[in-house]
Parts: sequence; C-alpha cells; structure tokens
Amino acid sequence: MTQHDVFDTTIIGGGPVGLFAAFYAGMRGLKTKIIDSLPELGGQLIAVYPEKYIYDIAGFPKVLAKDYVKGAVEQGLSTGAVPCLGESAQTLTWLPEAGHYRLTTDKADHYTRTVIICAGVGSFEPKRLEAPGVREFEGRGVTYLVRSLEEFRDKDVVIVGGGDSAVDWALAVYPLARSTTLVHRSKFRAHERSVQQLHDSPVALYYPFYEVKEVRGNAWLEEVVVHQTRTGEERVFPAQALIVAIGFAADLGPLKTWGLTIERNNIVVDPRTMATGLPGVFAAGDVVTYPGKFKLIATGVAEAITAVNHAVVHLDPSARLDAGHSTNVMEKRERTAVSAD
Ligand SMILES: Cc1cc2nc3c(=O)[nH]c(=O)nc-3n(C[C@H](O)[C@H](O)[C@H](O)COP(=O)(O)OP(=O)(O)OC[C@H]3O[C@@H](n4cnc5c(N)ncnc54)[C@H](O)[C@@H]3O)c2cc1C
Repeated sequence: MTQHDVFDTTIIGGGPVGLFAAFYAGMRGLKTKIIDSLPELGGQLIAVYPEKYIYDIAGFPKVLAKDYVKGAVEQGLSTGAVPCLGESAQTLTWLPEAGHYRLTTDKADHYTRTVIICAGVGSFEPKRLEAPGVREFEGRGVTYLVRSLEEFRDKDVVIVGGGDSAVDWALAVYPLARSTTLVHRSKFRAHERSVQQLHDSPVALYYPFYEVKEVRGNAWLEEVVVHQTRTGEERVFPAQALIVAIGFAADLGPLKTWGLTIERNNIVVDPRTMATGLPGVFAAGDVVTYPGKFKLIATGVAEAITAVNHAVVHLDPSARLDAGHSTNVMEKRERTAVSAD
C-alpha cells in the first residue's frame, strides 16, 4: 500500500514555463506539484528583471516582467497545482514496485508518476565582481539583482557590464537617477537598438577597457573608483548605488546525474514530444535543447503544452493527446465543479 501522496506530474521550476505547464497539466486533469529552489515563483523574470518590459508576449504590446509573473502565478495555480518553494531538486529514482518516481529535494521526498523539468538555466547565481570593497558593500549600495527601480531615484548610479542586462538597466535607471554611469571593459554585446538608445541617452559611458578598481564608503557606498586598464587613468565617481550586471553562472547541478542527455548545460529532448531519454520525464523552456531551439517565453510555453500532452498519454495511453481548445476544456471543468457543489 502506498504510504505517501503520489502526484501525476511534478514540475521542477516555477518560471514562466513551469507555471504555464502547471496550469496546463491541471487543466488536463493531472494532480500537479511544482517545485522551485527560489522562495518566490516567477523564475528569471522575478529574480533577474522584474522591472523590465517584455515586448514579445503575443497579445500584450508590452508588459512589465513582474506584472507578467502576477498573471502567470494566478494562472499557474488556478487549476490546482501545489507549490513547494525554497526546495532544490536533488535526486530522481524510479521505484519499480510502486510504479512511480521518488524525487528528493534538500527538504523533502516527493512521489510522482511523471516529471516535467522546466529548470531554466538551472540554479543561477549572479557572477560576482571581484574588486576591493565590493563584497563589503553588498546590500549597502552594491546590488546584483534589481527589485525596484525606485531604489535608484535621485541617486548617483554606476552600472558595470556590457550585455543586455547592463544596457537595459542603464536605460531604465537614468530617467529617475541623479546621474547614471556605465562602465564596461569591452564592446557592448546588447541588442543593437538598445545600444543606439544608450548612445543617444545622457548615460555617461566609460568603455572599452574600463573596470572597477575599488568601491569605498562608510555606512553606505559613497564612491566607485574606475580605471582604464591600458593607460592606468583613474576616475572616482560619487555613487550611492552600484549595479553589477556581468552575467550569471548557471548550473543544472544534481540534475546532471539523473541519466539525462546533457549538451552544454541543456537537456536534449525530442521536440515532437519534449521527452527526455528517461521514461515519463519531459522538459520544456530554457533548459532544453534541440535543433532550432529559441530561448524565449513564447516558445517555452508552447513546449510546455507539448510536454504536458505527452505526459497525459504516458500516464494513460488511451487518453487524447490533444486536449482541444481551452475555451471548451475550462468551461467543462467549471460546469463539473458547479454540479459537484
Ligand atoms: C534580462 C533578460 C531579459 C529577457 N527578456 C526576454 C524577453 O523580452 N522576451 C522573452 O521571451 N524572453 C526574455 N528573456 C528570457 C526569458 O526570461 C526566459 O526565456 C524564461 O525565463 C525561461 O523560462 P523558464 O521557465 O524556462 O526558466 P526560468 O525563468 O529560468 O525558471 C526556471 C526556474 O527553475 C528553478 N530551478 C532551477 N533548478 C532547480 C532545481 N534543481 N530545483 C528546483 N528549482 C529549480 C529556478 O529557481 C527558476 O525559478 C530575458 C531574459 C533575461 C535574463
């Protein structure tokens, strides 16, 4: 006899793709759990760029990442998925006698018939800037993750980095900051249009070959010392905020030991089914790779539909692969719920 609660599917990762998978799995009648190592749902959108606009969500000309997450969480949990937050997936073991998997996290054991991995880039950590004083002023002016633009109102802000994040933060911050300075050691690697906007903006640009040499202050950050690595020229900028946006180190960590086929930190899937090599284990979103893969929310949520539909058929080979239109499925669910009351 089973002593524990067994779920039809467990989704690893509560980013936009995992949340949509949770909605869809619930809509298809699966008893669903969603596990995320972060304390909040929303994935990269909430952890990395809550205050940025997203322009390529069909039907929304532009939407703030944190507003998108609000809707995605409401939708993701609307069909009954159980969220387990602050838990990092560690091991996956098939229990042949029970006919389901045991999925362990650093906090608990979970039991599930199928798994849908939506782990994005894996557990991610911002890359640290190694310069004297930076660690000391973390949380006292030095920040790696921007939670609210308001933090920078009327401040002197220095931003480090040359990719999309650094450039986008500079463009978002300068209208409300007292001064905005962008420091980068190489050429900008951001989207061409953003780089052009940056050049047209009042943001002070120090690149290439400029690096942070030291940060100084007392109770709070007061100055950022920058140097030109070729000439040795030094500049001191007054700063009450330093945003470090030099990228993220991402690692699938324990998922790499599950017997999945991994290529450059991505799980190889069959794009027709989103199946991994493990029976009943599917994957979707940024974590997957296949020929022609795009790492976008729009493509990830489409993959989530494919993964869920194939998980449904894996669980019950007589089930329909295609659920049909949500307009009909959800109306039917609502009618059933009303008649059960
Ligand atoms: C600055 C920036 C701007 C972007 N702009 C756009 C844009 O305009 N349009 C667009 O379509 N895309 C954009 N993207 C990309 C988009 O954010 C990703 O494609 C999207 O977040 C992928 O969603 P996901 O759910 O697959 O993964 P993620 O959002 O990465 O979520 C994965 C989740 O899995 C969790 N996780 C990982 N490993 C484990 C584990 N072992 N156990 C438990 N939980 C785990 C993580 O904590 C995370 O919450 C942008 C990305 C960045 C960084």
